[in-house]
Amino acid sequence: DSKRRILNGRQAFTPELAQSQENRLRMENHLRRAADNDEFRLVYQPQVDLRDGATVAAEALIRWQNHQLGEMRPDHFIGHAETTGDIVRIGGWVLREACRQVAEWRDAGLGIIRVAVNVSYRQFLVEDLAETIRKALEEHRLPGSALELEFTERVLIEDAPDTLRTFAALREMGMILTIDDFGEGYSALNYLRRLPIHGLKLSQLFVEGVPGNHSDVAVCQAVAGIARSLGLGLVAEGIESEAQRRFMLELGVPVGQGFLFAPGLPPDEFARRLAPQR
Ligand code: C2E
Ligand code: MG
Ligand code: MG
Ligand code: MG
Repeated sequence: DSKRRILNGRQAFTPELAQSQENRLRMENHLRRAADNDEFRLVYQPQVDLRDGATVAAEALIRWQNHQLGEMRPDHFIGHAETTGDIVRIGGWVLREACRQVAEWRDAGLGIIRVAVNVSYRQFLVEDLAETIRKALEEHRLPGSALELEFTERVLIEDAPDTLRTFAALREMGMILTIDDFGEGYSALNYLRRLPIHGLKLSQLFVEGVPGNHSDVAVCQAVAGIARSLGLGLVAEGIESEAQRRFMLELGVPVGQGFLFAPGLPPDEFARRLAPQR
């Protein structure tokens, strides 16, 4: 059960461990060169109005296709890239590519669509994130409001000295700032008052269990209450069933994302979804 999985820091050195370390090194070697080798692409998952299913935004999700390792999901490599520091370069590519794509959609008259990009805590620590994003927007003549940034609670715990300043700068540029996977992490409630953010994304860890599981229902209600009383937006992720959609609507959650509506789509497929509702 993923909710109860505990990572064991100490492990005996076994052949399996040696093998897994070798695999890790192999992956990290490929990862280092992946951006230069053009091995990444982005797919776009619609965020929809839960009442009528209209697409209101898209979340960009990275995919890695390596000729030796095959297709890799981000959960398998983002953590490594954070450890090695490669995430800063990869994250920079993601930001530029998302800007390029959203500019293309806007230029094609597909509407004033906004793209949400996942940003790692390491990008806050290592670089001047606001400057990186300013350049990416400028290159494609985009307003800050074309972007939404999703970051996890990890950013809050790392508490880099410049984090608050960076948040203020990003908000100043018109970007929507959202805490991803809310409830999974450390729920630094104290930070919610300090940070100039716009919204929360209710983790699919809890969405999964509604409406049947009582404790998941309680967590969803609590998060909705926090969002409402702090005046924050709320997006429910991982909606897979009609019952979950209805539950979220009754809870007053306006926007959702999940396989019930669409998975991450290649750009042309996403654009086809937008075209009829222009
Ligand atoms: P996330 O940001 O919370 O993204 C949601 C993940 O849930 C995505 O997995 C998405 O495909 C999946 N998902 C969406 N709807 C459903 C559903 O109804 N049911 C289920 N079971 N899953 C659903 P994905 O694309 O594998 O990404 C996993 C995580 O990797 C993301 O979680 C995010 O934390 C990270 N990630 C993805 N792209 C990037 C990126 O460009 N940069 C960084 N730093 N992290 C990224
Ligand atoms: Mg996300
Ligand atoms: Mg999420
Ligand atoms: Mg997640």
